[in-house]
This record gives sequence, structure tokens and C-alpha cells, in this order.
Amino acid sequence: MEMWIATGNEGKLKEIKQVLGPQIPEIVLHHQNELKAFTPRPEDGKTYLDNARIKARSLKSVRDKDWVLGDDTGLEVVGLGNLPGVHSARYAGPHASDSENTAKLLKMMTIRAVGSRKARFFCCLVVMTPDNQEWIFEGELWGTIGKLPQGTHGFGYDSVFIPDGQSQTLAELGPGFKLTHSHRTLALKKFLEKLNTK
Ligand code: IMP
Repeated sequence: MEMWIATGNEGKLKEIKQVLGPQIPEIVLHHQNELKAFTPRPEDGKTYLDNARIKARSLKSVRDKDWVLGDDTGLEVVGLGNLPGVHSARYAGPHASDSENTAKLLKMMTIRAVGSRKARFFCCLVVMTPDNQEWIFEGELWGTIGKLPQGTHGFGYDSVFIPDGQSQTLAELGPGFKLTHSHRTLALKKFLEKLNTK
């Protein structure tokens, strides 16, 4: 089984490999950056599903015989009216780094004197099968936004996100926690269930 992952994000790729690899021993996972001439379409959708579809369909157009997986994820902070949401990747600007996005998030929470620090990660996966079916899976993880970035594991907003029931951020908890409990893992598990009943 050859599957292409429609992401340029190394952190995401690593997590997807950690979940799918042991469960599907015959899977060969590829990464869009292996295709030197491939330029992904801009992620200009209004929803996570739109963007996960844009990613998956864009890669499927050049790997039409293979499985393709698109992942669009966002962080929604209740006290910020669910921002940054679908704009999570570009929150601090079009080419913002993880630390710039995280710094902007903490700054906005201070400026707006945000009462509720409740937040969730939401992950939408679009899997395209070799015979061109589209499967959609979702996963969420609830938690609280910390006051300062803490921890060195993970990527994106992991250093400011404290999952419910924990006292440390995802970046402090390390890969084991995300591997079993994350929004992405929960969505990937739904994909594995569907694959097993096919
Ligand atoms: P995208 O889904 O690749 O567009 O990512 C949206 C934004 O959310 C980027 O800033 C990512 O770094 C961030 N992000 C995606 N998944 C995660 C995650 O599992 N933890 C923390 N941040 C994430």
C-alpha cells in the first residue's frame, strides 16, 4: 500500500507515520516534498474540510493510482471567538514560524484580556482511495492555553496547549501523549477502523 501525505510539515508527517506505520505493516508512506516538481495549491478554503480537500486533491492529481491523505488542523481558542481556527498556519503572517504564531496568540490573549483560556485542536483528514473515493475523518482535543510557551517536543502550538486532565503542555508531555490522545491520532484511528472494515 503506497500512501502519499499531502503536507510539507515535518512534525505532522512524523506523527502520521508513528500512528499508521505499526498498524499497517505493508504501508509505504511518501511525502509531497519527494516530488520535486510538485507545487501544492494555495489553502484558501473557508473550512478545515475545504483545506484538507484542497491538499488531498492537489496531490491526487499527480499520484492518481495511490492513496493520498490531506490533513488540515487548527487551534480554536474560546476566548478569542475560536480564532485562529482555519487561519492557524498564517496567524502571525503568510510565512509565520511556529514561535511567531504562538507569540501572537499569547499577545492577543493579553490585549483582549481573554477570560476563557479553553481551547481545542481540531483535525480534519481527507483520505482519497486508489479508486477515487473520498473518506473524511475528524478528531479533537480539548485543553487550556498556558501563559507562556513551555517544552521542546512537538511543533506548532504544542508549547502553549495543556490538554484537559494534564498539568503540562503537549510540548512538555512528549510524543507518547500525542500518539495516544491527540486530535490527529483520533482521526487516524477512525481511518484505520474504516480500512479494517473495507
Ligand atoms: P496546517 O493544518 O498544516 O495548515 O496547520 C495549521 C497550523 O496549526 C500550523 O501553524 C501548524 O503548525 C499548527 N498545527 C497543526 N497541527 C498541530 C498540532 O498537532 N499541534 C500543534 N500545532 C499544530
